[in-house]
Amino acid sequence: MTQARDPMAPAGLAAPQLAWLEQLPASVVVIVGERIVYANAAALELLEAAPAQALVGQEVAAFIHPLDLHRVLGRIRHAEGEGGANPPTEFRALTCRGRQRVLAMTSNHVEHEGRGGVLAAFLDMSERAAMERRLRETDENFQRIMNTMQDVFYRTDAQGITRYVCPAVKNVLGYEAQEIIGLPAAAFYPDMRERDALIAAIREQGFVHDFPGRMRRKDGVIIDISISTQALRDEQGQYAGVEGIWRDITPRKALERELERMATHDDLTGLPNRRDILEQLERALEQRRDRRAQSPLSVLILDLDHFKRINDGHGHAVGDRVLRRVAEVVEGRRRGVDRLGRLGGEEFLLILEGSDAAEAYRAAERIRQAVERAPMDLGEGLDTQLTVSIGCAQATAEDRRASDVLERADRALYQAKHLGRNRVAA
Ligand code: GH3
Ligand code: MG
Ligand code: MG
Repeated sequence: MTQARDPMAPAGLAAPQLAWLEQLPASVVVIVGERIVYANAAALELLEAAPAQALVGQEVAAFIHPLDLHRVLGRIRHAEGEGGANPPTEFRALTCRGRQRVLAMTSNHVEHEGRGGVLAAFLDMSERAAMERRLRETDENFQRIMNTMQDVFYRTDAQGITRYVCPAVKNVLGYEAQEIIGLPAAAFYPDMRERDALIAAIREQGFVHDFPGRMRRKDGVIIDISISTQALRDEQGQYAGVEGIWRDITPRKALERELERMATHDDLTGLPNRRDILEQLERALEQRRDRRAQSPLSVLILDLDHFKRINDGHGHAVGDRVLRRVAEVVEGRRRGVDRLGRLGGEEFLLILEGSDAAEAYRAAERIRQAVERAPMDLGEGLDTQLTVSIGCAQATAEDRRASDVLERADRALYQAKHLGRNRVAA
């Protein structure tokens, strides 16, 4: 082996220097006229040269990736000719087996057998390059996700200042990310109490999931959001801010509200439906019992007189319009504390908080007169008079259920009908 290497040893290097080069962990080659004339043991190994002749004696260009060739040869020529030292440069080398390595090369002028040559040393940067590539890929993937996701990813510091927010924030709040970064996250909450509740929950549990809140968009519109966020801790375990996502759930909330409205309201009149108004009555009675309230409570059941005739004479659509009109008239007479609902068909229930039987009777009488006086539009320029019969009942301490007081009101209503309609009975 020593025999084989001797002719390749650079004559310009003395034996001790040579021995030292052979020991060096860094790879070293000597290049003269763009041909490799010497390679130390580390270089032979790095470039997978076995035997040594696979590298030594070969054109240096054969070991450089074509895309880096021009640049690296330029360096080599520079060091060879003008004797200048080159700063480190990275390039892709090809081993004797055709494998790619990323090398950092420093090169310097050396005299070799009376000719100018280059002494080049290499460090294998492949590991680092691979790591950097992985980091770059991770970063690119992160950016791609941040650019396309519907949710808004954000991070604040311990003072609540926004340190990062992804570009998707533009779609949701209407601000560019740059307009928000550096501002307190709280600036976008219409109600500070909601932000305080969020921070308190995060500090207590370390995270929140699907936490409700609202934010103000750039155009001033308030949107519903859902927040999933966790607390960040610094190396000492101190609270360092929060990181997480929030999502615009305005459409979901609107749908929930619409479903809620549909479940509790009557389509035709927009009033609370039967189930809802009966529930309200149950609750009102329950509260009276709990508070042993002395304040009275009464109910009115209203039933339109001869309503079938409207339907029969003018059609169902006109009947519907008349029903809506009656609902408006009664609603217009309602006090703020009273509650009106549609029991079904052309029957309505009015709950009168704080009214005893006598007050309820007077209220019923006012409503009866209002309906009687309101012209009912039948379309085609026609209108008609319509009347209503009303049964009143006051709740008593013995009433356990809504049905107890309703039964009495119903009996009174039957009485009003029996006595000729368009009247109030108790
Ligand atoms: P009475 O004075 O005895 O109450 O006579 P009435 O004609 O009002 O009789 P009743 O209460 O028994 O009949 C109510 C009618 O109301 C029956 C039905 O055709 C009509 N009705 C019920 N719901 C609706 C509705 O949503 N739209 C329309 N157009 N008519 C309805
Ligand atoms: Mg009826
Ligand atoms: Mg009727």
